[in-house]
Amino acid sequence: MCDRHGPDECVVALDVGGTGMKGALLDRDLRPMYTVRRPTPRSAGPEAVVSAITATLEELSRQARSSGLTVRRAGVVVPGIVDERTSRAIWSGNIGWRDLPLADLLEARSGLPVTLGHDVRAGGIAECALGAARGARDILFVAIGTGVSAALISDGHLVVGGGFAGELGHLIVEPQGTHCVCGARGCLETVASATAIATAYTARSARAVDGASDVAALLLDGDGDALAIWQRAAEGLATALFIATTMFGPELIVLGGGLAEAGDLLLEPTRAHLAERLTFQRPPRVVRAGLGDEAGCVGAGVYAWQAVCGTASILPPQLPRAQVPPA
Ligand SMILES: [Zn+2]
Repeated sequence: MCDRHGPDECVVALDVGGTGMKGALLDRDLRPMYTVRRPTPRSAGPEAVVSAITATLEELSRQARSSGLTVRRAGVVVPGIVDERTSRAIWSGNIGWRDLPLADLLEARSGLPVTLGHDVRAGGIAECALGAARGARDILFVAIGTGVSAALISDGHLVVGGGFAGELGHLIVEPQGTHCVCGARGCLETVASATAIATAYTARSARAVDGASDVAALLLDGDGDALAIWQRAAEGLATALFIATTMFGPELIVLGGGLAEAGDLLLEPTRAHLAERLTFQRPPRVVRAGLGDEAGCVGAGVYAWQAVCGTASILPPQLPRAQVPPA
């Protein structure tokens, strides 16, 4: 990777999710030198989230100074519609901001130069660089957590669509289904996100759960309600993956985000339902992400280093580029 920067230089990388933030100081080879996790105060509104991001950037920056490291730049990746070219967070159903000049705001408040990116495109780039998608050229990376979103790498190129590409979570899989944060009904996100799985389980069984991981544990215990909810999520996910496979012909589908931590419990029914739907299409391999829920944070580091070094030096030439405006 980039050889113009020394071992005492790093970037601040921050992945802002709907539930929590994952931050790290990453060296020029994207190795973590320090990590931190903080909650995302989304119920307190967008302003509180911006303040929490700023505080976490400042904390990481202080940590770098006290370790004798020089921070070259911060990479911050967020969910929703992100226009990397203008550094604006255009829309997020889960966090609630609308057309926010987020990089400028964070630079003014933290004093750090900031590159803004999209959390799931960042995850896809990271999986290509260091994770389960190394060596592949046609990849769909799907992150399933509070929401559902995807990054499409087609013939080695990251598909951005002005920030609007990859919104797999808003493919409608149950036309008469429940209302989605986007305004439509029956989106994949209302069926197969970790949030939706937990909510649907409680609605069906009248038993409260802490999250989708609780539903997965109940499924292993033979709970019939958990099985029904889980099967519905896997079918919805397979329907969306079938559409994406038919449209884009990925050789590899990488499932990441918190729900993918369920491993074969998610992978096996998803593979089976997808295989049932395919006729002539090239069957993609469906695998679990290699970087777990760290992919977005590593990708935030890629955005930052690309802005520092230029796109030619941080990643091998066959890998997709983040869309990074000049630093
Ligand atoms: Zn939707």
